[in-house]
Amino acid sequence: MLAELSPALTAEVQRAAKLLASKQRICLLTGAGISAESGIPTFRDKQTGLWENYAAEDLATPDAFARDPKLVWSWYQWRRQLVADKTPNPAHDALAQWQYHTQSSDQQLTLITQNVDDLHEQAGSTVIHLHGNLWRNRCSQCETPYQSQSRDSYSSEDSSEDSIDFNEGLIDCPHCDGYIRPDIVWFGESLPAQAWQAAEEAAANCEVFISIGTSSLVYPAAGLAQLAKQNGAKIIEINPDPTPNTIVDITLAEKAGVIMPLLIQQITAL
Ligand code: NAD
Ligand code: ZN
Repeated sequence: MLAELSPALTAEVQRAAKLLASKQRICLLTGAGISAESGIPTFRDKQTGLWENYAAEDLATPDAFARDPKLVWSWYQWRRQLVADKTPNPAHDALAQWQYHTQSSDQQLTLITQNVDDLHEQAGSTVIHLHGNLWRNRCSQCETPYQSQSRDSYSSEDSSEDSIDFNEGLIDCPHCDGYIRPDIVWFGESLPAQAWQAAEEAAANCEVFISIGTSSLVYPAAGLAQLAKQNGAKIIEINPDPTPNTIVDITLAEKAGVIMPLLIQQITAL
């Protein structure tokens, strides 16, 4: 099963599995890279089609929404349509399987994600979302939640009453004169307090911290691995293009969809 990996990487996967099987408190942080193999582009990938001349970092900000709310809203409608038919890949599935397995063991596994998609939930995981949820909306002024959307309402065939039309323009808040915006944490905004507190606690108390598919550039999420390290945890990174991160103890430089099933298979067999 490990045959498709190089001998060096195989040895590292086995080392990681041994370490993980011997520890009780594990914290995992996933980023856009874990959903890349499901067909959802990361922020480091160049945007395509309609949006090729825009950088995600220039659209996912409160300033961009204040300047041109319609542009930002249509970008999110486009992203929603892009994500609507995407399904979990073997990395999401393996993680969910591991979480399920730990219910009957003394291991405690906390899964935290920077992703706004719902592929972890679709795979059956319980997950802490640090950056919000692509399928929820709220008012940009009074913050009142507005019509949570199901992913189905974005598929083009759907004609149910509460579906949002991709081409539809901005929506006015029924309670004030603000515009409705996606319930997502934009660059420069603070993280949801409860989610952040739970993430910090898990990172500070874990024995192993696993970072999967994140460029570790977006703070404060990127600081969680450092917090774990300061408190004595070992750090594992899974990324085909590893980050220049000196705190990492084990680097598994391969796609998450390749590594995770192998790693979980090894852990649960030990
Ligand atoms: P990022 O785009 O900055 O970095 C993605 C990382 O994933 C890169 O280091 C890349 O080398 C790695 N990667 C690519 N393919 C991989 C694979 N198959 N397996 C493992 N790793 C792989 O993403 P980020 O660090 O999550 O931070 C950017 C922000 O973008 C986050 O705040 C997030 O909310 C948002 N975002 C979310 C989604 C989503 O919800 N799916 C998609 C794009 C961006
Ligand atoms: Zn309002």
